[in-house]
Amino acid sequence: MNDYSADVAVVGLGPAGRAVAHRCAEAGLDVLVLDPHPARTWTPTYSAWADELPSWLPAEAVASTAQKPAVWTDHHRIIDRSYCVLHTPKLQATLSLDRVRVLAGAAVDVTGSRVTTTDGTTIDALHVVDARGTLDSRDLAQQTAFGIVVERDRAEPILEGSDAWFMDWRTDNGARPGEAPSFLYAVALDDDRILLEETCLVGRPALDLAVLRKRLHHRLANRNVKPNGQEDVERVRFSVEPPPRSLLHTGRSGPVLFGSRSNLMHPATGYSVAASLASADVLVDRFRDGDRPRRRRALNIWTVQKLRNLGLRTALALEPEMVPQFFSSFFSLPVELQRSYLSGHDDALGTMTAMLRMFPTLPSSARLAIARTIVHRTSRS
Ligand SMILES: Cc1cc2nc3c(=O)[nH]c(=O)nc-3n(C[C@H](O)[C@H](O)[C@H](O)COP(=O)(O)OP(=O)(O)OC[C@H]3O[C@@H](n4cnc5c(N)ncnc54)[C@H](O)[C@@H]3O)c2cc1C
Repeated sequence: MNDYSADVAVVGLGPAGRAVAHRCAEAGLDVLVLDPHPARTWTPTYSAWADELPSWLPAEAVASTAQKPAVWTDHHRIIDRSYCVLHTPKLQATLSLDRVRVLAGAAVDVTGSRVTTTDGTTIDALHVVDARGTLDSRDLAQQTAFGIVVERDRAEPILEGSDAWFMDWRTDNGARPGEAPSFLYAVALDDDRILLEETCLVGRPALDLAVLRKRLHHRLANRNVKPNGQEDVERVRFSVEPPPRSLLHTGRSGPVLFGSRSNLMHPATGYSVAASLASADVLVDRFRDGDRPRRRRALNIWTVQKLRNLGLRTALALEPEMVPQFFSSFFSLPVELQRSYLSGHDDALGTMTAMLRMFPTLPSSARLAIARTIVHRTSRS
């Protein structure tokens, strides 16, 4: 049994853990990381709004940028906000661990000052970051998607002149009325390749990948694109909620929760990577300079989390045919408010304003569903 000590111990080497380990080491802190498979190569396609990415991230970590991505809700719209697909191998390489001590192993107990692994090894640290991701549990709300990668010229009938489809909710995917909806997501992986992905934004349970595959093929056939079976495939399933609080060590004696294990995961959209990259330096300042999270900021983060959870419950409660109308209202908001809601994890005022501005523009059935969600929640608490 070996025992270790460090300024900062990071548990979990996904994008969140790796970002914080890398940035802490760059700032001169003594960092030790633990993961069962520290050399695992990342394969998912990670995307983000360009304005969410931290300035230290080199341009080469971005594989493609859609300057004006499109959405189709009840009609075609352009979103005036750049959207990036990250270059996964270069992102991983950028977050280098050259100055970090790396241990292979799994944590069984993680407190604010000590990590214990399955073989009894202990790591004592001034600061412990728990970035073990969330759980793959069907009890949690999940996002699912099935995608294929095609050459750009084959994807032209799908892109219809757009840089990217952030969401295309048209119903030419063969879903029957009343079935849970899914949308088409289409982004460039580079100059030559386009990812076409049928996505279930959120469900408890989320749509099965076999259903999404069938819908994707149906949609593509309707738009004169015929997969040849040789395309690379992306399968997506992840929980959009952190593990239940009962399974987390929280409070003063607990570790710092980070990444998708924390409130950096947006439960109504499933995005966390850019927020984790951008928040890594907040932890660097806290660990290096002893900066404490300000009470007002902590309150803002807490409030945003409550509002986002309401957004998740609303998304889960909406009747399928209301979903495109809901997004039509959302994308009618000024882009700054869209940004506040999608990206402002400490922007309580902006998040609340976005939700309040949207509410009266929704159809009455959607307003009723939201009101029911609030009443149901209030009566349970
Ligand atoms: C295919 C796919 C595409 C996605 N696309 C996007 C996207 O475009 N944009 C976006 O923002 N999000 C996306 N997500 C969602 C989410 O942001 C990712 O899941 C992201 O990887 C979360 O990062 P993380 O570092 O918080 O957790 P993870 O990536 O889950 O990393 C957790 C790490 O902890 C390690 N670990 C687990 N248990 C232990 C233990 N006991 N001890 C030590 N280490 C442990 C794991 O080995 C793993 O390396 C996508 C997810 C998938 C699956």
